[in-house]
Amino acid sequence: MKKINFCSGPAILDSSVIANAGKALIDFNKTGLSLLEISHRSIEFVEVMEKTKQLVKELLDVNDDYEVLFLHGGASLQFCMIPFNLLDDSGHALYSITGQWAGNALKEAQLFGKALAIHDSSDKNFNYIPTIEWVDSYNSASYLHITSNNTIYGTQWSTLPTVGIPLIADMSSDIFSRKIKVSDFDLIYAGAQKNMGPAGVCMVIIKKEILGKVNRKIPTMLDYQTHINHKSMFNTPPVFAIYTSMLTLEWLKSVGGIEYIEKVNEEKARLLYAELDKNALFEPMVKGKDRSLMNITFRGKDENIEKKFKEVCKENGVVGLDGYRTVGGFRASIYNAMSIEKVSIFVSLLQDFEAKHG
Ligand SMILES: *Cc1c(COP(=O)(O)O)cnc(C)c1O
Repeated sequence: MKKINFCSGPAILDSSVIANAGKALIDFNKTGLSLLEISHRSIEFVEVMEKTKQLVKELLDVNDDYEVLFLHGGASLQFCMIPFNLLDDSGHALYSITGQWAGNALKEAQLFGKALAIHDSSDKNFNYIPTIEWVDSYNSASYLHITSNNTIYGTQWSTLPTVGIPLIADMSSDIFSRKIKVSDFDLIYAGAQKNMGPAGVCMVIIKKEILGKVNRKIPTMLDYQTHINHKSMFNTPPVFAIYTSMLTLEWLKSVGGIEYIEKVNEEKARLLYAELDKNALFEPMVKGKDRSLMNITFRGKDENIEKKFKEVCKENGVVGLDGYRTVGGFRASIYNAMSIEKVSIFVSLLQDFEAKHG
């Protein structure tokens, strides 16, 4: 039976991407060698790196003020690299606290300078995006950091803010899912394993002019300038993760790019939220405009319903639906590679369950 995999990350990739990644492991571009056993400095792999970067630039309309990087260490290393490169001991940075990842980012920044939370939605277990109440003192901050989509809680900035200071966004779980204006940001980063590729690489889109302004010495590997100078090849890059990300971006381009996938994503979320809003046995955790189009969190009416529904999921090949441990309930992650058809099958499952147990 074909599974319906709602895992939040590492998450599903299009089946053509998996098949082609598999082929490259055996025979990469008819070289007679595996992708895993060629030099990252070979012409073949340098082409992969350049093509991946080009696809990012094309799909997101990134201009030449920016550099696209592919780094190790996941999104979590960016929590430290950002303040290390951009926040002086004497400066201050602003953080929007809309979830656990945002909180982790703030904690790292506090190691390097003053970092303040401008708001915090932990009072309601992060089930909403607070508004920004801008005050004068914020204008002298080095940057504002936001998390565009809160993977764990199922909230998302429906409209991304624009502010008069550099804006930095963790877009790990909604990059390439909707139109964004890159020029509104000074730095965007995303761990690949949610919506872009396998685990092992983190994409960074950085405005070059923001660098070189802090007074501390920066270790070579943690300095963005190193990776810009060496085109993400200062040391051995995660070749498989980059190659598979390239395949995903080619796939995305071939189906119609962001304009197309955004419509599909809106339709999937509409179908699922509409069912959860009317199904008497389930309740969505997030209301209104802050609902994520990528991670849909919901719970059953009671423990018994949840237990029974888990059995139904198991019988029907639905996997990866458990909510995060601090949230409970269920979470359906419906990233780009999830089809409308699979979401519709899941909606029918919720309907049949209500008919039987309601
Ligand atoms: C998964 C996730 C992270 C952590 O990513 P790693 O690559 O595992 O460090 C950070 N931020 C968000 C929004 C995420 O969804």
